[in-house]
Amino acid sequence: MVFAHFEILPLNFLTENAAPVGFLLMIIILSFVVAAEYRRQAKLQQEKILSTNRQFTNQQRRINEQLEGMVQHRTAELETALQELSEANEALKEFSTKDSLTGIKNRHYFDTIFEQEWKRASRQNYPLSLLLMDIDFFKKVNDTYGHLAGDECLREVASTINSELKRPADIVARYGGEEFVALLPYIENENALEFANRIRHRVEASTYIADGNELKVTLSIGVSTVAPTEDDELKDMISAADIALYEAKNSGRNRVRNAGQLLVHSHRVAS
Ligand code: GH3
Ligand code: MG
Ligand code: MG
Repeated sequence: MVFAHFEILPLNFLTENAAPVGFLLMIIILSFVVAAEYRRQAKLQQEKILSTNRQFTNQQRRINEQLEGMVQHRTAELETALQELSEANEALKEFSTKDSLTGIKNRHYFDTIFEQEWKRASRQNYPLSLLLMDIDFFKKVNDTYGHLAGDECLREVASTINSELKRPADIVARYGGEEFVALLPYIENENALEFANRIRHRVEASTYIADGNELKVTLSIGVSTVAPTEDDELKDMISAADIALYEAKNSGRNRVRNAGQLLVHSHRVAS
């Protein structure tokens, strides 16, 4: 505009308005610069956020993996503990049903199972046979060879009786002292007598080694059979076998006596 005024440049719209046009151009250029800078800053900010997000996600994944590992470890530990507990429980159950001296079932277990079998037999109407077995003159074994030999002899006799019980339903237990008991579900009286005689014979024919001594012992056995009804009582069946055992003792020992005729109800069996 100054050059136009002194006629150095021709006077026209551009030279006349050079200042506002220049100012306008400057504003436009500045706006572009500011906008570009703003975009650059925004992009930087976005990248920063994305990077923080990525770090956060990675950290989260690591924490999740760690947690998962810990959970798996704890679950495995818990499963092992449960397994051990269940085994200990089984062992305890087994231990509580066993007679510690002979390793066969104990009296408590027998009583429990007998009760259950009695109820089932009375519902389903099948026979049960009971054998009460007592070692003859056992006191003499202890007196002659000592208590330890007596203990070993008890173990051997228990094992002989146990080996004769082949069916899973049969139960043999130590009834107390030198007495044993066997419960044979589904077995009629005749077969029970045969079974009792087989046991008696096997014990008689055995020679036991106990505490370095060779021992021979015999068994007296009382047998009772009943297909129980609601009128029958379990204890009567036991007393019947007990009386038969007493008879076996009184008639010379090493023999089997049948108590079938002593049962009072309709299911009693002939001797
Ligand atoms: P019987 O023919 O009349 O049955 O005579 P017995 O001598 O077998 O009967 P008695 O009842 O007089 O004696 C039983 C003996 O059994 C006495 C007891 O010391 C012995 N006895 C009981 N339990 C055990 C045990 O756990 N170990 C040992 N070694 N002996 C036992
Ligand atoms: Mg006895
Ligand atoms: Mg005896």
